[in-house]
Amino acid sequence: MSYVIALPPVASVPVHARGERFPVRRIYCVGRNYAEHAIEMGGSGREAPFFFMKPADAVLAVAADETGTLPYPSLTRELHHEVELVAAIGQGGRDIPAARALEHVWGYAAGLDMTRRDLQAQLKKAGRPWSIAKGFEASAPIGALMPAAQVPGVHSATIELTVNGLTRQTGRTDSMIWSLAEVIEHLSAAWTLAPGDLIYTGTPAGVAAVVAGDVLEARVAGLDPLRVRIG
Ligand code: MN
Repeated sequence: MSYVIALPPVASVPVHARGERFPVRRIYCVGRNYAEHAIEMGGSGREAPFFFMKPADAVLAVAADETGTLPYPSLTRELHHEVELVAAIGQGGRDIPAARALEHVWGYAAGLDMTRRDLQAQLKKAGRPWSIAKGFEASAPIGALMPAAQVPGVHSATIELTVNGLTRQTGRTDSMIWSLAEVIEHLSAAWTLAPGDLIYTGTPAGVAAVVAGDVLEARVAGLDPLRVRIG
């Protein structure tokens, strides 16, 4: 096969203690999946799951021994952090029942769903799509992936974000309103999942703004920490 322009690079994520990488096809994100965060965003904490997407090349992949750099994005004065557990799909499918859903997961990583919150608020008010608020460059930082079999406790783990060493967000992954298995059931009713898809599973309460120079550390117990400096 030959192409009329150079083939674009494949976005990918490092894998814990391995030289191989995980290629990224799509990034799905779940909105308002922890009750206290849903309430801080103006919801009731009991809504059905809803989804949005980021482009695959929005990943900012950061190995465990590195600190990634996220350039402060244009158009916003309110760049927010959202620490999230990320699941990586290794086996695709559609209409996947929750009871079988975790068989489709290759591994897990700590991630950040970075958000232009001021623009998101304007877009919500106008009833417009969230793409500019959520899908900008480097808006999806992610740490090294751990194979699922090596982190059996990830569904009842602490999840935390520090900024410059101070705790900003803290929660537990078993506090999700919709479990990952239920999220996969809902997602795969709307889209056919495929190997390479990432799912950002939502954030606990405590989202807030960062400024240039801040160092964020996202941690999910059992996974490599993700460190990012705002450039
Ligand atoms: Mn989020």
